[in-house]
Amino acid sequence: EFDPVHRQDRRGRFFILSGPSGVGKNTLLAKVLTDLPWMYYVPSATTRAMRPGEYQFHPYVFLSTEEFEGLIEKGQFLEWKRIHNASYYGTHRPTIEHAIEQGYDLITDMDVLGCADAVAAFPEDTYTIFITPPNLNVLSDRLLSRDADVAAVSQRLKRVELEMGHMNKYDYVLVNDDLEVSAQQLKELLRASLVSVKRA
Ligand code: 5GP
Repeated sequence: EFDPVHRQDRRGRFFILSGPSGVGKNTLLAKVLTDLPWMYYVPSATTRAMRPGEYQFHPYVFLSTEEFEGLIEKGQFLEWKRIHNASYYGTHRPTIEHAIEQGYDLITDMDVLGCADAVAAFPEDTYTIFITPPNLNVLSDRLLSRDADVAAVSQRLKRVELEMGHMNKYDYVLVNDDLEVSAQQLKELLRASLVSVKRA
């Protein structure tokens, strides 16, 4: 059973969500996190432009290219990648390390390659969840509706195949068809004790 307020008397669990762009990871997460007060969302750092409705720390730490590259040089990233139109995305290693050691449960989202790096770095502590759409047409519709830049959208669609190819490496796969149902399923998954599911 969880103590929903204080940290756990064990290492924290590091949940990683992946899935193709447009599958609704951020919407799902936002819906679920309000009901899980002990779970900390760790914003990744990125150099991509803010979208309408986004602001600093929600959902990213927005950095300039110079700032990001400075952190790479200092070895501050657990993993970092250049995705889509070459923007940087990365996870701040000291934040993750400290929180796991202190017993805080964390959740973040990463592309499939970053997720593989994080699992390699924290094999005992990571729990990976892949969010998939019910079919691929849903994705192009969602991506076009949130971004008028057709070239950028077609970049994102090219990456879908790569992302989907990694689905079978994840601890859990969740189909995001009905948002309410998926949110409920994700919530239950994050609440479970998960003692017996680790990779061999
Ligand atoms: P978006 O620009 O649509 O918010 O995210 C683009 C992609 O970057 C998504 O696949 C998302 O999962 C991934 N992403 C977000 N944060 C990180 C991170 O810290 N590391 C890596 N490797 N990928 C990330």
